[in-house]
Amino acid sequence: MTTLRVILGDQLSLDLATLADLDAARDIALMMEVQDEGTYVRHHKQKIVLVLSAMRHFAEQLRERGVTVDYIRLDDPGNTGSFTGEVLRAVARHRPARIIVTEPGEWRVQQCIETWTSLAGTPVELRADDRFFASRGRFAAWASGRRGWRMEHFYREMRREQGILMDDGEPAGGEWNYDAANRQPLPKHMTAPTRRRFVPDALTREVMTLVARRFPDHFGDLEEFGWAVTRADALQALDDFIVQGLPLFGDYQDAMKADEPFLFHSLLSPALNLGLLYPREVCRAAEAAWRAGAAPLNAVEGFVRQILGWREYIRGVYWTLMPDYRDGNALQATRALPTFYWTGETAMRCLHQVIKDTSRHAYSHHIQRLMVTGNFALLAGIAPREIERWYLAVYADAYEWVEMPNTLGMAVFADGGKMASKPYAASGAYIHRMSNFCPGCAYDVKLKTGPRACPFNYLYWAFLIRQQPRLSANPRMAMPYRTLAGWPRERQLAVLAEADAFLDTLAASPAGDA
Ligand SMILES: Cc1cc2nc3c(=O)[nH]c(=O)nc-3n(C[C@H](O)[C@H](O)[C@H](O)COP(=O)(O)OP(=O)(O)OC[C@H]3O[C@@H](n4cnc5c(N)ncnc54)[C@H](O)[C@@H]3O)c2cc1C
Ligand code: SF4
Repeated sequence: MTTLRVILGDQLSLDLATLADLDAARDIALMMEVQDEGTYVRHHKQKIVLVLSAMRHFAEQLRERGVTVDYIRLDDPGNTGSFTGEVLRAVARHRPARIIVTEPGEWRVQQCIETWTSLAGTPVELRADDRFFASRGRFAAWASGRRGWRMEHFYREMRREQGILMDDGEPAGGEWNYDAANRQPLPKHMTAPTRRRFVPDALTREVMTLVARRFPDHFGDLEEFGWAVTRADALQALDDFIVQGLPLFGDYQDAMKADEPFLFHSLLSPALNLGLLYPREVCRAAEAAWRAGAAPLNAVEGFVRQILGWREYIRGVYWTLMPDYRDGNALQATRALPTFYWTGETAMRCLHQVIKDTSRHAYSHHIQRLMVTGNFALLAGIAPREIERWYLAVYADAYEWVEMPNTLGMAVFADGGKMASKPYAASGAYIHRMSNFCPGCAYDVKLKTGPRACPFNYLYWAFLIRQQPRLSANPRMAMPYRTLAGWPRERQLAVLAEADAFLDTLAASPAGDA
C-alpha cells in the first residue's frame, strides 16, 4: 500500500523522519508550493525565492535517489493554494493507506495537519522532528516546575547531554560561558571579510521571475539574492564561515557597522531553518575548529551557545507556550507600526541602515534586530503583534517558532519576563558604543533633549517613566530607576511630552501591512 510522505518547505533534509522508512517502489513524497504560505504575511521576496528554489532543488535530489515526488508548483492549474487542499487532492490521486509528516515549525500548520485524518479519511502519523537536539517533550520536561526559564541553565544541560565542548564531564577550558571576552565594538579601521554568496542558477532565476510576478507588492529587493539553496551550497557556506567568520565571531558578535551588515556572523540561519544544514554538524564543525587551533574558545563557545542554547531554547518556549504566547502584551503597547519599518525612510541613521540592509539582503544580525529595530519598537510602545508580524515578514530565516519568542520575549518583553530577566531597553549610548551609525546621523547622540537630540535618548527615559508601575520592582532595573528617582516631576513630564511629540510625527503603516 502507498504511503503519502508530506515534506513541508522547511523540511528539506534527506534524514528527515518522514523519509526514514520510505519504500521507493510504492511511496510518494508530496511537496507543495501554496499561495497561502507565501501570503500569510507579506514575506520578503528573497525569502519566498529561497524556500521555493530550495524545495525545487530538493525535489530533484529526491528524484535522483529514485523517490517518486508529486510536486505541486505555485502556478499549476488546479492548485488550491492551501496545504489541506493539496493533501486532499493528493489523497484522491494516490489513495494512500496513510500519510506521514514530521512536526511542522509553526503552530498554525500543526492545527491544519490535525484536520487531515478526518477530512481525508486517512490516518496521519506525525513524527518528531529529530533534527533538533531537544524534542518538544525534552524541553517541556526541563521547563516543568521551574519558576524562571533561563536559557543559560538549559544550555548547560544541553552541553552535558550532547557532550559538545566538554572535556571529562567539565566545560572545555573550565568555563561554561566566555561572554566577558565578547561584545566588543569593532576597531575603527577593521573591515569584515568578503563572504561566500551564491550566484542564482537557472532554476533559482526561474523562481525569481515567478516571485517578482506573483508577489510584486511584497517587501524587499531581489537583485542581491545570494543564499544557499542546496545542501552542497550550504556546506560551502559553513566552511566559509568556519574560516572567515568564526575566529572573530565572539569578539565582534554585538558590533555593528554601516554598510557591513554581515561582519563575522555565520549567515547560516536560512540554511539551518530550511533543513539544508543540521545543527549538530554546525556545532561539531565549530568545535573541531577550536580543537584544531583554528578558532579561539570564546568565539566557538559563543557560537555553539547560539545554536545548542538559544535556538533550541527558543523552539522549546514556542511549543510549550503556544497558542497563548502570541497574545502576550505585558507592557500594554498599542502603537501602530511606523511606515519607516517598510521604507527605511527615517532620519535616524541606525534604523535607516538596518532597514535598508534588511531590504537588500533579507538579513540583519542579532544585535541589529534586538537593539535597533527591536529596541525602537519597545521604547515606542509598538503593539507586539504588529512588530512580530514585521519580523516574520522581512527575514529570510523567519519562521514563527524562532521569530515569535525572539520578538515577543526578547525584543519587546511582551511575555512579561518569561525569557528575559529585564527588557532590552537602551538609549542612544548603546548604539553609539557598538556601531559607527551615530556620526553622520541627523540627530546628536550626546543630546538628551531638543530637536537634534537622539530620539532613543528621550524615548528611553519616557519608556521607564511610563512603565514604572510594571518594571520598577525588577531588581535588574534598579539602577535606571534610582537615577529617575532623582528627577523632579517637571523634568519627567517634559521628557514624556518630548517623546509624545516625536512619536506623533511618525506615520503609521496601514493596518495589516505585514
Ligand atoms: C526580534 C528578533 C527576531 C528574530 N527572528 C529570527 C528568525 O525569524 N529566525 C531566526 O533564525 N532567528 C531569528 N532571530 C535570532 C537571530 O537574530 C538570528 O538567528 C541570527 O541573526 C541569524 O543570523 P546568523 O545566521 O548570521 O547568526 P549567527 O550570529 O551567526 O548565529 C549562529 C546561529 O545561531 C542561531 N541563533 C543565534 N541567535 C539566536 C536566537 N536568538 N534564537 C534562535 N537562534 C539563534 C541561528 O541559527 C544562527 O544561524 C531573531 C532575533 C531577534 C532579536
Ligand atoms: S544618533 Fe541616535 S538615532 Fe542617530 S544613529 Fe545614533 S542612536 Fe541612531
